[in-house]
Amino acid sequence: MINPKLLKQFIVEPGTEVDLKRYPTDWMESDEAKELGKGVIKERAAQVLEENRKELDATQELLYASDSYSVLLIFQAMDAAGKDGTIRHVMSGVNPQGCQVFSFKKPSTEELDHNFLWRYMKSLPERGRIGIFNRSYYEDVLVVKVHPEWLGPGQPAKPDKSFWEKRYEDINNFEKHLTRNGTIVLKFFLHLSKDEQKKRFLERLTNPAKHWKFSEADLAEREHWKEYQKAFEDAFTATSTKRAPWHIIPADRKYIARAMVADIIVSAIRDLGLEYPKTSPQKVKALAAARARLEKKPTPAKPDEPHL
Ligand code: AMP
Ligand code: MG
Repeated sequence: MINPKLLKQFIVEPGTEVDLKRYPTDWMESDEAKELGKGVIKERAAQVLEENRKELDATQELLYASDSYSVLLIFQAMDAAGKDGTIRHVMSGVNPQGCQVFSFKKPSTEELDHNFLWRYMKSLPERGRIGIFNRSYYEDVLVVKVHPEWLGPGQPAKPDKSFWEKRYEDINNFEKHLTRNGTIVLKFFLHLSKDEQKKRFLERLTNPAKHWKFSEADLAEREHWKEYQKAFEDAFTATSTKRAPWHIIPADRKYIARAMVADIIVSAIRDLGLEYPKTSPQKVKALAAARARLEKKPTPAKPDEPHL
């Protein structure tokens, strides 16, 4: 387990104005990390991920058995920040029946014909399950804030400040509704530096096994880097709440991001203090009867009548 005091610095305290430059993208460069030593951290990160992966499987089973909560994990980031890899690594030990991943792309015409939360509402996790949103309703205050022309029909051509404020308010109300009704909401921003993104794009261009990951559209979005950072800051400032906080995870090193995310998820579920449902006296009786029936020796078959 990672020291919760260490992780606290990555949670956006509700009501604070977020300046992303103040959050590290490479935690290894921090004084704390230098003190511990890089070799030690890399080894510890692998251990933490492994421990949490195992615990997450057991925790999800308990979540299912106790049938009172669901967990919604939200991942947002710039391209190549490692959302897919983090989801794959962190969730790799969990029973596939206990979790579900939804990746949200450009909305369809049908989706654009509804309110902006509609497509996400339909994908919320059932009680007992972990739902993962790879991109989410936050795109509706991020990518479309940078490109308002993608807002779709029925929306203002030039949305003003109050348009976005209303969306933040809708999101906060939506998350309030979810958390009041038994959904734990954890939000992760994988915070990548522009230099590291360039390295990862170059790797995608160079390594034939990674060519498929490269999209020219990603380069066009990179040119809007500053606008995206500003849109992220505005969104985190407006929507980090006690009930659904934002975590700004340093993502320049994948192993650090994965270990931190896994640890935060496991701790949040553990904090619910879930227990397996108690067996009622009637059920104990019924179980004893079932056992007796199962263990009862079969009456031996009568031997065949001898032929006369
Ligand atoms: P990827 O996750 O890399 O496959 O890319 C999905 C693309 O869909 C990204 O460029 C997102 O910005 C875009 N996208 C996701 N949600 C929305 C949305 N609500 N409106 C417009 N574009 C979106
Ligand atoms: Mg992409």
